[in-house]
Amino acid sequence: MRTKIIAGNWKMNLDYAQAMALVDGIMQMTDDNMRCRIVLAPPFPYLTQVEMQSKLRTNIFIAAQNCSDKNSGALTGEVSASMLRSIGVESVIIGHSERRTIFNESDATIAEKINRAFENDLQPIFCCGESLAERKSNSHFEVVKTQVAGGVYHLSASKVSDMIVAYEPVWAIGTGVNASSEQAQEMHLFIRNLVKEKYGNSVSQKIRILYGGSVNAENAAELFGCPDVDGGLVGGASLKPAEFSSIIKAMEKIS
Ligand code: PEP
Repeated sequence: MRTKIIAGNWKMNLDYAQAMALVDGIMQMTDDNMRCRIVLAPPFPYLTQVEMQSKLRTNIFIAAQNCSDKNSGALTGEVSASMLRSIGVESVIIGHSERRTIFNESDATIAEKINRAFENDLQPIFCCGESLAERKSNSHFEVVKTQVAGGVYHLSASKVSDMIVAYEPVWAIGTGVNASSEQAQEMHLFIRNLVKEKYGNSVSQKIRILYGGSVNAENAAELFGCPDVDGGLVGGASLKPAEFSSIIKAMEKIS
């Protein structure tokens, strides 16, 4: 049975006081008896404080939203995987579509970031997903296959068993238009089968595949009810404690 995961990607939102209020709210509305793992991905400056604030909770984990593909050096503005690990961060989102499109991250750069994450004992949350034009032209499976092959196929089976994939169709991110549960299940099964072909059945049954793209309190139960959806990567709705907690509770009812 795969542990279910609900991750909140706060992106570049909230000031410090708002960030702390959000953690407090989530902590009040959830508890450690919940089976699903809660992951919070605040902006870099708040990581330490969010980590300290939630330290006593056993099912809250902290993720960064990005890391450098390099180890260290004269790279002004970059943050390395080892720095993140040294302040208690456990996971890192890599290859988010905003990084791919706005910051021109290639599959090769993303693969290097995943390497840095594993070398530093950070669990990668690897994002993939097609644009609207790619879905309309029916090339979505090919696009996701290329992204998965580019980001993951160089890794060993044990690393792949341990990582998290987030399928995030770009047309669903921040648009209010989520993938239907049929579309999500179809792509999640496709990704799991890619992993199966490359690494075998046992690895494909262990890897966690999250859905991301306009998840909210209303659509969460239906999306999470899909057999190959192991949780969600939530953007906008993760900034509202009551809504994020409802999403966690929707997962909890199913798991
Ligand atoms: C995201 O950016 O990872 C995301 C899924 O955003 P939203 O939930 O706002 O669509």
